[in-house]
Amino acid sequence: MKTRKLVMIPGPTPVTRSIQDQMGRETVAFGDPEFVKDFKGLLEDLKVLFKCSGEVFVIAGSGTMGMEMAIANTTKKGDNVLIVSHGFFGDRFIELCERKGLNVDILSSEWGKIVPVEKIREKLGEKKYAAMTVTHVDTSTGVCAPVAEIGKMMKEFPETIYIVDGVCATAAEPEYVDDMGIDILFTGSQKAFGVPPGLTMLWVNQKALDKRKSLGSIPEYFIDFEKWIPIMNDPSKYYATPAVNMVWALKESVRIIKEEGIENRYERHRKNAAAMQAALETLGFRILAEKGRRAVTLSNLVYPEGTDDAKFRGLLAEEGIMVAGGLGAYAGKMFRLGHMGNIDKHDLVSVIATIERAMYRAGMTVELGKGVGVLQQHLVK
Ligand SMILES: *Cc1c(COP(=O)(O)O)cnc(C)c1O
Repeated sequence: MKTRKLVMIPGPTPVTRSIQDQMGRETVAFGDPEFVKDFKGLLEDLKVLFKCSGEVFVIAGSGTMGMEMAIANTTKKGDNVLIVSHGFFGDRFIELCERKGLNVDILSSEWGKIVPVEKIREKLGEKKYAAMTVTHVDTSTGVCAPVAEIGKMMKEFPETIYIVDGVCATAAEPEYVDDMGIDILFTGSQKAFGVPPGLTMLWVNQKALDKRKSLGSIPEYFIDFEKWIPIMNDPSKYYATPAVNMVWALKESVRIIKEEGIENRYERHRKNAAAMQAALETLGFRILAEKGRRAVTLSNLVYPEGTDDAKFRGLLAEEGIMVAGGLGAYAGKMFRLGHMGNIDKHDLVSVIATIERAMYRAGMTVELGKGVGVLQQHLVK
């Protein structure tokens, strides 16, 4: 018999049955009154859950499209943009912005650490920036940025649009658009929402909407806020075909979030991450992100000396879990384990037990059950 394979990469994350069922529904016309009602309700829920008094956009695409959409609607050729990068996904903004003809300044941290807020303030004081990007959780490092603290500081720079990449954070790390002073937050469906890949979501406040208006016509067509605003206000109208089944799947995910309570969801992620990280450290892995800056959505685990990455991840796959490899300088030296979205205690116990079996088979030093024991101690707290 084949072992079930748990997908524990940092997105796509496991998709529960009820969400899969929405994907399998018979597709209706995008103008179908019932679908229009569902879409409207979803947009309203997303505004309320993430405290956004501006606009919410739900559009077919992946997280990277959210990055591009945020930049395209708030900057024009020749503008200055500040990129705060804590790793691979922060760096993705560099080429994206350069291609658009923007002047890019970059503040990078050492992998595993953050750029201090004071340093960002200093940089913003040097010249006028049209926009600044911060990655809430950089999936390459597992570092969580202090987005609320940065948002507070941004009050001193009202001419700069504060863009937060929430692709590996939204629906797991607390994010309140209005309260945290965020101008644009975006995410993708396949990470902490636990929906298959295919949708981009953006929360955009009035300041960023005004900025878009002030730009006049922009070169981009499909990702123009101005084209989508009428649709988001009345989904019975047509601009480009909405991903009907994906919208239903996201709606089911939001129903699950509401049923759990979003605060409870944040707390569950916090507790689960602490439990997983304690268990993984016990097993001899080093967590790349420094203490106090660790994400709740994933762990980036540096191998003990002498571990063969390809062999270890191959054994993990044979034993039943898929994880991701390290990026950049950490390729071959680290693996990345997602623990976000709609997963439960069964999954967590199973994942730690599987890692122990793979370590044993790889000939690594491991006392079977030790990591599971530590995990259990945390889970019963
Ligand atoms: C996954 C990810 C992206 C890219 O999203 P895609 O859906 O793969 O395009 C961007 N930023 C962060 C932080 C991510 O984790």
